[in-house]
Amino acid sequence: PTAPSVMSVNGHFANMGEKPTKEQYEHGIQVINENQEFNPTVPQYLSFEKVSSAGFKYHLISVFGSQSTGKSTLLNYLFGTEFGVMSEDDRRQTTKGIWMSKNKKSHSTTDSKKMADNILVMDVEGTDGRERGEDQDFERKSALFALATSEVLIVNIWEHQVGLYQGANMGLLKVVFEVNLELFLKNSKSNPRSLLFFVIRDHLGTTPLANLRNTLVQDLTRIWSGLNKPPGLEKSKIGDYFDFAFAALPHKILQPERFMSEVAKLGTRFREGHRDPRRDPLRSDQEFEGGIFLPEYHRRIPADGFSIYAEQVWDQIVNNKDLDLPTQQELMAQFRCDEISREALVGFDETIIPFENKQAEGIRLGSPEVLGGLGAAMRTARMKTVKNFETEASRYHKGVYARKKAELESKIDGRLKVLFQGQLSAAHKSGVRDFSNAVSAAVKAGQKKGASYDFAEIVDQEKKTVLAKFEKEARGVLVEGAPWSNYKQEMSLYQKDLSEVSGRLRRDEMRRLATRVERWVRSRLGESVGLEFNTLGSGRGGSGAPETGERGSEKEIWDRIWGVFIKTVQEAERRFTDRAKSFDASSGEVDVGLWRLRRKSWGVLRAKIEEEMMEGNLLLKLRENFEDKFRYDEAGVPRIWRPTDDIEGIYTKARESTLTLIPLLSKFQSSHTSMPPPLDDWIGNAPPEATPADEEDLTPIGGVDEDEGKSLEEEMTVLSDAKRQDVTTRFKKTADGVYVEAKRSAIGGMTQ
Ligand code: GDP
Ligand code: MG
Repeated sequence: PTAPSVMSVNGHFANMGEKPTKEQYEHGIQVINENQEFNPTVPQYLSFEKVSSAGFKYHLISVFGSQSTGKSTLLNYLFGTEFGVMSEDDRRQTTKGIWMSKNKKSHSTTDSKKMADNILVMDVEGTDGRERGEDQDFERKSALFALATSEVLIVNIWEHQVGLYQGANMGLLKVVFEVNLELFLKNSKSNPRSLLFFVIRDHLGTTPLANLRNTLVQDLTRIWSGLNKPPGLEKSKIGDYFDFAFAALPHKILQPERFMSEVAKLGTRFREGHRDPRRDPLRSDQEFEGGIFLPEYHRRIPADGFSIYAEQVWDQIVNNKDLDLPTQQELMAQFRCDEISREALVGFDETIIPFENKQAEGIRLGSPEVLGGLGAAMRTARMKTVKNFETEASRYHKGVYARKKAELESKIDGRLKVLFQGQLSAAHKSGVRDFSNAVSAAVKAGQKKGASYDFAEIVDQEKKTVLAKFEKEARGVLVEGAPWSNYKQEMSLYQKDLSEVSGRLRRDEMRRLATRVERWVRSRLGESVGLEFNTLGSGRGGSGAPETGERGSEKEIWDRIWGVFIKTVQEAERRFTDRAKSFDASSGEVDVGLWRLRRKSWGVLRAKIEEEMMEGNLLLKLRENFEDKFRYDEAGVPRIWRPTDDIEGIYTKARESTLTLIPLLSKFQSSHTSMPPPLDDWIGNAPPEATPADEEDLTPIGGVDEDEGKSLEEEMTVLSDAKRQDVTTRFKKTADGVYVEAKRSAIGGMTQ
């Protein structure tokens, strides 16, 4: 086969973009083409050959030598490759640029002599200038490239060329040495040793290999001493940079069987081996322990970074830039670490994006959700992503690796942190909601069973439950190694919010308690105040007479009502305080509650008085009072009217007595001082803890709420002057009616 067709379009590389096929790589891959371009599909080839994942477990060999010295043929027999070779009848150059192929052979049935894994062979275009003219440019460039990448350089040479010091091969070796010194100057620390492996072709056998070796070594030493060495390296020896190995092969066409068996023997030397410390690299190559691949030859380029490294190196060479290998290694490390990082993130995304989407959706809909399985997913994703990165990237430049690892971690930790906080915030919201609902439900259940439930206990219990739940959910999303992995702050925020909610619930509970106590006050006052007004109907102990009965005199009705009111509210206050204290209400909250209770109780009393003093009720009471005084004698015996009785006198006295009730009833005041009761002092000022909300639903009270523009006198006015007048007139009419009836009955009784 001639030049490649699959990879080359008009002599230039075309990135095919398709999945590589076996046919495509039949002859390996052209790494550098005749236009000195680097093939961008080398990574595909390496992964097709399953070398990319080999880490450092691969080897790179380049073969050098004049045109048409059977290099490609040798490689094909030695490594089972299918590099293009010159056909017997058309003697034209075949190998163009640099080709690469992976070893397909093992050459041994015994494991101990099996060839090393993942041997990559580079077939470098022959360089005797016959078809390239006098241009030695490519020779130099390919030598630099091979030295920067390869552990072993096979130098392919005819036996009859050995000792021809002026020959093309020696020119090539001179270039190799010069280039190596050039590299060494810039990279004295990092440029490793290489093995120059001479394979002598068409070995007749008359001159033993040892002699050939000696001749070659002499020539090499001569070339070396003739080199213009840079300052500081004048005294350096060739053995400082190179090891040497030698092999001879018989004529392939004349001795095909021996050729094959010798090639097979040669193949077994491509194994990993160790240096015998006593070995002189210039004298003998028999003392490699094991194979010729010594660890010190390895360029330490991880397999998955090889193509990018090779491309960068080639770029520097082609553009005649200084080839600074440590810089190239660092650049490669950056490039590869970024790639590895991106690959590691693919798996991370697969696991994490669904959670991110779900969380974002919850927030968008305003109902953030606690996501099940999130913690485990986060932990696995982080662990796997970091581990995947470490496995591949740790082979690269330590500083770059550490930096890129930190970058990757901060990237994934940033995203995990958002998930973590979203989860905590969802747990927070649902916890607060659950808490509030649970307390309300427990209170409702308590109310159903009867009034005595322990509010403080309920709050305590439910708080414990939701705190434990939050803690569990928060602990569930901790990720070891992530810098944000603690929930102290979120926990204290949560506790603060729960306290706020329990405060609100307690205030609600206080309101419920206040309502219950007010209801109690209403019913007690309804009864006791009603009773006071009912005694008016009896008219006993008539006006002015000193009261001896237990009910007291009419004159003191307001004193008694005030007294009963104070006592009732005192009892209510005690009940309120006891209960409120039981659920940890603050003294301020209790003060506000009591203040509201006194005001509301006054409202209750005022309403009760108004109800009693409604015109119909009042007239009825006045009439009853009057009739009691008029129709019954001092001893409480009903009068039977006789014409001789002083009906008019009794009538007048009773009527006047009842009439005194009207001014008495029109003002709530002390019988002793004729002053309104000290309602303002008794209610007191609003406690400092009272909020506007606490005052919002209160009815203003004259004399207490000064800005109402209503005095205490006015607050205590039960009947206005007009009403008094009206009631007086109407009562008199009623009394008159009773009088007329009595008069009639007296006359009637006489006629009977
Ligand atoms: P390259 O240019 O160095 O890669 O050489 P090729 O492998 O293409 O071979 C060039 C020619 O040499 C071909 O015609 C081969 O048949 C022939 N050839 C290959 N191996 C040997 C050998 O061991 N001895 C001799 N005399 N000719 C060989
Ligand atoms: Mg060739």
